[in-house]
Amino acid sequence: MTLYAELHRHLGGSVVPRILWRYFQRHASDLIERFPDYPDFEEFYTRSRNTLDEYLELHTLVESVQTVQTLPYFIYRLIRGAYIFENLAYLELRYTPYLRTPDSLSQSERIDKMAEIVDVVGIASRVPEYPIVTSQILCAHSRLPYEVNKAIIDLAASKQEYVCGIDIAGGDSHYAERLDEFIGLYEYARSLGVKTTGHLYETTAGCYPEMLPYLMRIGHGIQIPLLHPELLAEVARNKQCLEVCPTTYLKTGTLDDIKQLKIVFDRCFDAGVDIAICTDNAGLHNVRLPFEYESLLTHDIINFEQLKACQEAAFRHAFAWGGRDRPASILTSLLQA
Ligand SMILES: [Zn+2]
Repeated sequence: MTLYAELHRHLGGSVVPRILWRYFQRHASDLIERFPDYPDFEEFYTRSRNTLDEYLELHTLVESVQTVQTLPYFIYRLIRGAYIFENLAYLELRYTPYLRTPDSLSQSERIDKMAEIVDVVGIASRVPEYPIVTSQILCAHSRLPYEVNKAIIDLAASKQEYVCGIDIAGGDSHYAERLDEFIGLYEYARSLGVKTTGHLYETTAGCYPEMLPYLMRIGHGIQIPLLHPELLAEVARNKQCLEVCPTTYLKTGTLDDIKQLKIVFDRCFDAGVDIAICTDNAGLHNVRLPFEYESLLTHDIINFEQLKACQEAAFRHAFAWGGRDRPASILTSLLQA
């Protein structure tokens, strides 16, 4: 059995439709009146959207029910599923802690509550019966004010027991008007020793070369090989890894056909740029990591050798794996003995 590392998964998009629907059912939410039958809910929840913004709207549905009280419920089920069905040995979960605090509070009160959210997520992610090495990536958000985003970075720096890095989310077309501010936040994070990834070059409207040097990994980044292959040599030199999430681009309308990813993989392999294959929103897509692997193989986008290279890259670029060997090496050494 191979064990995998997942580097790009949103807490909000990680709830599979069945678990979310069951939650609504148990807690008599008004949402269950809209969707008394599960298949209707699954269809609504997992269907493709026209744009990234429309797709991201769906996150707010889940965010609204992921509170300090309910997070352990959802995370337990997430870890259980990841262990049983996905063979994950390592998982980085990302989210914006501010958006899990009550919106009835003032901004400064909500900032103060973020540390508790990180603790709750950290404790809930350690499930003895389903052991997975987990860590959190805290997402700054393109629609949140500077003070909140800065507080998120300070929190990442102060909670290294549970947090391994920061990200920026919220749709990459929205960075433009505040680009200097976001670059400043990344500079600040790096000065504190915080590891960095960021949603960038996901859509054609999200290409900001000025931000690239600050990222250790690139969330998606598919427009680099597609539209700006001249940047690949530098990405390779900087040892930046692309977090490619195949199903996302079809769900957001960024790509029409999964086969368009062949160029992404071919150009990255040729340039020596590492790719980690990830799910992004496994629940929202109702697609688990091993399926993403299989789908790339069956569509002839990559071969088995390339898949293995991507799986190894995921462990190499994992912020909290600590440079250890992949778990499979234990079995290999047993075989050799
Ligand atoms: Zn993402």
